[in-house]
Amino acid sequence: MKRKSWLMWLALVIGFLIIPVTDNAERLSSELRQHIEPLVAKLVALSPTTTTSKKTDKQTNDESAIATDKTPMESNVQGVTLSRTYYYHFASGTPQAVKTVFEEAIKTYNQTGVVKLVRGTGTAKQNQIKFSFYRKVMAAPQQGTIELGRGGPDIIIQTGLDHYVANHALASMNITYPGLIKRSVAIHELGHALGLAHSTSQRSVMYPVDRGRTQLTNEDINGLKAVYNQ
Ligand SMILES: [Zn+2]
Repeated sequence: MKRKSWLMWLALVIGFLIIPVTDNAERLSSELRQHIEPLVAKLVALSPTTTTSKKTDKQTNDESAIATDKTPMESNVQGVTLSRTYYYHFASGTPQAVKTVFEEAIKTYNQTGVVKLVRGTGTAKQNQIKFSFYRKVMAAPQQGTIELGRGGPDIIIQTGLDHYVANHALASMNITYPGLIKRSVAIHELGHALGLAHSTSQRSVMYPVDRGRTQLTNEDINGLKAVYNQ
């Protein structure tokens, strides 16, 4: 119990997506509730931008729910002016299953009209995303969580006469568990690459525990608009 909530905190801080492991779907949802609710309460208390209404209270009004469900941006993209256009490529040897789900995720973000992802490598001054894969075997998955993927923005700020700002981002998937190469994971990791941080809303694609979400919520789209000043 302690170990699992500690891992969720870690996931929130360093930005990877995890999945709790259990054979039983029923048990999964009840366990998640136990672990997530205290986490949400803590986040509300720590965040200076949210209201003081407790998210754990089912009686909260809609206004406070909207405030706390906001999909935030990664700290390194705050106050940075980024182009909306990205050039993306896949690392050599990327399995087709990983390519397929990332391509679906690309389509999802392009459909928002907020960002534009184009196939190619781009120059140093342009935004780039590298899609990749890795293997990470979890020590005791039957008792803990599985890391599904990693992603995040890497902001390069060049000052002086040749001034430019670019995001050279990475979105990567753990291919150790082929059944967990999922569109929801691709959308989550690409969200990080584009500058979205973890959300406390279980409906958001940026919730740190995989809930199989493949549709961006309005809050996810608003979060993206905030990153790209739209
Ligand atoms: Zn994440």
